[in-house]
Amino acid sequence: MEEKTIDFIKTPLSEVYGENCFNDAVMRTRLPKSIYRELKEVQKGNKKLSLEVAEVVASTMKDWAIEKGATHYTHWFQPMTGLTAEKHDSFISPTSDGKVILEFSGKELIKGEPDASSFPSGGLRATFEARGYTAWDTTSPAFLMNDNTGVTLKIPTAFFAYTGEALDKKVPLIKSMEVINREALRVIRLLGNTTSEKVIPTAGAEQEYFLVDKSFFDKRMDLFLTGRTLFGAMPAKGQEMEDHYFGPIKLRVADFMRELNYELWRLGISAKTQHNEVAPNQFEIAPIYSTVNVATDHNQLTMEVIQKVANRHNLVALLHEKPFAGVNGSGKHNNWSLSTDDGINLLEPGDSPHQNIQFLIVLSAIIKAVDKYAPLLRWSASNTGNDHRLGANEAPPAIISIFLGSELTDILEKLSENKPVKSTNGNYLELGVNSLPKLPKDSTDRNRTSPFAFTGNKFEFRMVPSSGSISMPNTVLNAVVADVLSEFASELEKSKDITGTIKEIVARTYKNHKKIIFNGNGYADEWLKEAEKRGLPNIKSTVESIPALVSESSINLFTKYNIMTKEELESRYTIYLEKYSKQINIEAGVMIDMVRLEIIPAVLKYTGKCAEVINSMTAAGIKNGIGEQREMLEQMMKNFEELKYSTDLLAKELLNARSVEDYLSQAKTYHEKVFPLMSRVRLYADALEKMTGKEDWPFPTYLDLLFKI
Ligand code: ADP
Ligand code: MG
Repeated sequence: MEEKTIDFIKTPLSEVYGENCFNDAVMRTRLPKSIYRELKEVQKGNKKLSLEVAEVVASTMKDWAIEKGATHYTHWFQPMTGLTAEKHDSFISPTSDGKVILEFSGKELIKGEPDASSFPSGGLRATFEARGYTAWDTTSPAFLMNDNTGVTLKIPTAFFAYTGEALDKKVPLIKSMEVINREALRVIRLLGNTTSEKVIPTAGAEQEYFLVDKSFFDKRMDLFLTGRTLFGAMPAKGQEMEDHYFGPIKLRVADFMRELNYELWRLGISAKTQHNEVAPNQFEIAPIYSTVNVATDHNQLTMEVIQKVANRHNLVALLHEKPFAGVNGSGKHNNWSLSTDDGINLLEPGDSPHQNIQFLIVLSAIIKAVDKYAPLLRWSASNTGNDHRLGANEAPPAIISIFLGSELTDILEKLSENKPVKSTNGNYLELGVNSLPKLPKDSTDRNRTSPFAFTGNKFEFRMVPSSGSISMPNTVLNAVVADVLSEFASELEKSKDITGTIKEIVARTYKNHKKIIFNGNGYADEWLKEAEKRGLPNIKSTVESIPALVSESSINLFTKYNIMTKEELESRYTIYLEKYSKQINIEAGVMIDMVRLEIIPAVLKYTGKCAEVINSMTAAGIKNGIGEQREMLEQMMKNFEELKYSTDLLAKELLNARSVEDYLSQAKTYHEKVFPLMSRVRLYADALEKMTGKEDWPFPTYLDLLFKI
């Protein structure tokens, strides 16, 4: 990505937008008509991709990329690390006269074979075959990335094992899209829709992140190796003045944001909203929503581009959920809805009776699905970093609940009791005869404390971690809602009175599942008690959430719809547990190193200097203040003793945790034994930071990291 001056007068934004994206417009103009039409059918899932079509697309893609300076191509995929992966190949093919021609075949477009033995497979590959394949995802456009390696054509792909098991986060997502399409179509056909050909889940991910100055970042072993600060005392000012949220954007950050938008637009990523967030040096960017698989790719790319552009400005972007204690961490709001290919949003309450029936049945399916599969949804939003946020009064609690707003809840309540519903203009509504009262988009009380909030015509899943891929949250959402839609469709298919049956379903679903609806303050302690009374699960940590993946209900769900096999689920279970253990292992190790190699030497240096002062002053016969100096040093050495003791204890527990065999027991040991000790070590180190002379403190402080850009 080379630095570019951006002049939207010279090149209007409409021309810049998508210039690095092999999008539909490019394909339409460059591909022969028949090939383009056939590719469209492949994208819709109506046809299999033929090698002939692939050949033409590959050569067109290559020409387009080379015109724009590309030298390499890569299959771009999303292994279970949660990051993206790529292996670049150049287009060159040597000829006998010592020159090269540039080649890219259909086969190379369709299938790749990265040597993937080092990606986490949770045992899937060890027991079968070491080989992994990538396959072109025709529904997500290829793009060009321009960075220090040059210009590379990147082709979004799915990644799976020789035996067909998915080794990535993309395959289950795409399968879940097919399932919800099928089941939602069954329902809307029964409601009389004969025109829509597809139902597509849509997502828009709001991404939060922090920026810190690179020179400070480089001096922090913790940020460098773990993405978060393991130490750091708060300066006198934090986020309490609420002066950062939506505040004016600092010049240096504005420069960064301008370039970030530019790069994203060139890639065809619809960056739309940007603003300062609650914590100092925290920001947010949101795109316009798209289909969930494109949204997933675009969010992965957005995270990558944020980091690259930040670097160009001598900044480092922190995507971690909790880079700093004492101020808010970062999340990702996953806005989700269902839309037909002809533009009908199934969660739009709408004006007509037909739409309102459709809205109510889809809404009921979601209510039931979220209640029935709450532990699975909770898992899909868990990661090591998010453990610091969920339930900590800065993000939703760890309890899954749904916010509907009072108006909509009241409608469902009345319908469930067979009472007349009064619309906002005073008329009484009869389901399927009159329309729903039009729900204002920002319905009365916009709830910021709910994990799953209805926001006018979509749901906002607000628990999702900032650094994670949105593929799993959306895979789970698609799967669980599809499952209930399927159940409703079967009931409706047997019915002779569709409206009557829908009425029954809506009433019954609300009665059976209203415990999941909560419109109050999710941060309040009373909610914890109330949720417990309602019998809602409160799964507090990542380690406790992971077993949901291999629960009977999860295995039944995913295997019934062929989204994931039992083996794939078990492999993921292992991968996530192992990942948790590894992360805590690294964090604890870094902590011990920082104490022993940096903090202790700094404290001893400072206290040593102070002791020398006491000695020389005493020798000079000075009496005043000597006692106070001693007292100060005694206090410091008390903290020092505690620091040394708890660090040694941490080291001991860490050794013990490393030797635990079983994945679940090991992760539990890290969570229950190692993790709490880390807070203890930090407590004494942070106290010492506040007592040690600034010049002797060994690394940049929160003041530097949070306020200086
Ligand atoms: P907030 O008020 O929570 O900051 P916005 O109203 O700005 O959020 O929108 C958040 C995101 O929701 C945007 O990315 C937007 O494109 C997305 N969004 C809007 N409609 C839909 C939809 N039908 N499906 C999925 N996402 C949507
Ligand atoms: Mg939001």
